[in-house]
Amino acid sequence: MEIKYFAFLKHLIRFNRPVYLDHNATTPVSNHVRRKMDQALKNNFGNSSSLYGIARRSAGLIEQSREHVSQAIHADPSEVIFTACATESNNAVLKSVAAQFYPRKKKIVSTPTEHPSVMKTLAYLETQGVLVEYCPVDDKGRLLLAELEQQVDDDTFLICCMAANNETGVIQDLKAVTKIAKQHGALVLADCVQALGKIPIDVHAWDVDYASFSAHKLYGPKGIGALYVKQGSPFTPLLHGGHQESGLRAGTESIHNIVGFGAACQEVDKLLAHAGRTRSLKQQLIQRLKQIKPDCVINSPETDSECLPNTLSITFPGVENAGLMGMLDYRGIAVSAGSACSTGEDTPSHVLKAMGLSDQAARETVRISFGHDTSAQDIRYMTQVVQDYIEGRISFVNMIAPAQLNETILFDKQTYILDVRPPDDRKKYMGLPNAHEVNPLFVERYLKQLPPDKQILVYCPGGGLSVMISYYLKAKGFKNVTNLRGGLDDWRKRRSDLYEKYAGQNVTLLEPDKVD
Ligand code: PLP
Repeated sequence: MEIKYFAFLKHLIRFNRPVYLDHNATTPVSNHVRRKMDQALKNNFGNSSSLYGIARRSAGLIEQSREHVSQAIHADPSEVIFTACATESNNAVLKSVAAQFYPRKKKIVSTPTEHPSVMKTLAYLETQGVLVEYCPVDDKGRLLLAELEQQVDDDTFLICCMAANNETGVIQDLKAVTKIAKQHGALVLADCVQALGKIPIDVHAWDVDYASFSAHKLYGPKGIGALYVKQGSPFTPLLHGGHQESGLRAGTESIHNIVGFGAACQEVDKLLAHAGRTRSLKQQLIQRLKQIKPDCVINSPETDSECLPNTLSITFPGVENAGLMGMLDYRGIAVSAGSACSTGEDTPSHVLKAMGLSDQAARETVRISFGHDTSAQDIRYMTQVVQDYIEGRISFVNMIAPAQLNETILFDKQTYILDVRPPDDRKKYMGLPNAHEVNPLFVERYLKQLPPDKQILVYCPGGGLSVMISYYLKAKGFKNVTNLRGGLDDWRKRRSDLYEKYAGQNVTLLEPDKVD
């Protein structure tokens, strides 16, 4: 009786606390950071560009934070510029360096596993004439340094290589990269967003010219980034206007966010001290998952020195990540697919593809990323749910394959078609006939309008977002929910005959319920 009682209590405690295993996407703000930001918001509204005391105190806080950031990365404070995010930092460097060197020198060498804030900026620079080459990586995402040596030449003005990958956690050998760069007079940009707070960072020892950082990956606030520019390395600002940040980044500073970033960096040593515990939790997780699904494939390097302690990329053959993520979300567990599928697109991860995974394997891969407070209990709960799912003990949402979605289903009076596509996609493509369009960001505001007794057929562009919403609807008591696998994108391709004939017919835009 007592044992049952305790098990019940544990169950209650468990369900009161979601299991967040997506710390590479973002982290919660720590208490220390929140306190410092509160104080700054309360007491330091002054514009640091003004001259009176109220303003000077704000300026002082900014410089204090700059010191905290520079200490965490082993730089001089004069080498740190605050930006709005790491996306801005990466854009600023790539565009500035290209403007400086091109067309005198023509080439940037990068890796095919960079974050989109680098990949898309490089694609833009290519449209401006810059030659961009991507050095291949191996099956664990490690940069092939011998190939890099071949690719970098005297026409190369920049090598762009991340310190650690957001999807797999693979750590690149930046010292080796800078050595190759220096032999040819090329500069180096290192995206260190995922590395800060997880492994020691020493931008001087690594000898990189530029490095980008973001506060929200280490328990700081969103909307604040930093850029390291080595003393003497060329840099022209992306934003012109005011003289803030020594004239290198115009715009009134977001003081509370800067303070938050500084406060987060004060805790870096504490975060680094967690690495051993986090690694051992990751090992436990890998062992359990290998027992549950012996054919699973670990995509992250398994050697400690080659991988972030908190990150695991794992493929479950035969188990689509969209369904798995939706089911985990239904049980209060957040993981990531490591691809754009969460935004509704059906694009397999470019990182996994560069490592040699097929599109299908990439769609069967999830990324699990721990935080400092992830517990063994969280791992036990998560692995139990995964086991129940894989062994068929959890009720799935129904899935319909695009080829099966025919006229009979589309026009069945007992089927209610729910379109959860983002507005952008609706502008590009007409949707299923008889669909009811809702804003996917506020699904809870349409629940009263959905028929409880009909089959609800949910679709999005790629089948990822809709499966999450399908599980949500099940959790809200809708018994008969079906998700369109592969989404509208797949259906358009496989049933182009029906798309041509019926798309966009009789569509209803639902109005969300008002909130008080
Ligand atoms: N670089 C990497 C490796 C990232 O993981 C991220 C965020 O996910 C970024 C850059 C962009 O950071 P921000 O959100 O500050 O723009």
